[in-house]
Amino acid sequence: MATERTLTIIKPDAVAAGHIGDIIKIFEASQFMIVAARLVRLSKKEAEGFYAVHRSKGFFESLTNFMSSGSALVMVLEGENAIARLREVMGATNPANAAPGTIRKLYATSIEHNAVHGSDAPETAAYEIGYFFPGVALV
Ligand code: GDP
Repeated sequence: MATERTLTIIKPDAVAAGHIGDIIKIFEASQFMIVAARLVRLSKKEAEGFYAVHRSKGFFESLTNFMSSGSALVMVLEGENAIARLREVMGATNPANAAPGTIRKLYATSIEHNAVHGSDAPETAAYEIGYFFPGVALV
């Protein structure tokens, strides 16, 4: 299996609730290395750009308002099979369907306020890493 890099965001709900440390602890316990990190306050435009693929969805307005509502911690994680493994550690989009022990089961409060983002495929990981860390040589 290959070493991969993926993008994660600790979303504004989890940052406001004081769960940055709890979530990073899970990443580290799950053999992810943090190779880049930025605390950001997304503008509405940046949130819309990041979630452009969801522009036609009914929840787009609400989602981009939420994502620009407060500080978020954006990180690049590295590890074996990191993209798929991060999705497992995160749990299902809707916390009602998330497996026990997953980040969303533990810390999400709704399908929208679901604590974390994780890239869903190699192409999206490359795009999303470039979106937040353009031209940065990662450690
Ligand atoms: P993810 O890959 O698991 O994050 O899920 P998606 O790519 O399908 O959706 C992106 C984000 O939009 C999710 O993480 C949620 O924050 C939000 N979202 C997804 N589905 C819904 C929905 O049905 N209603 C609302 N309000 N938000 C949603």
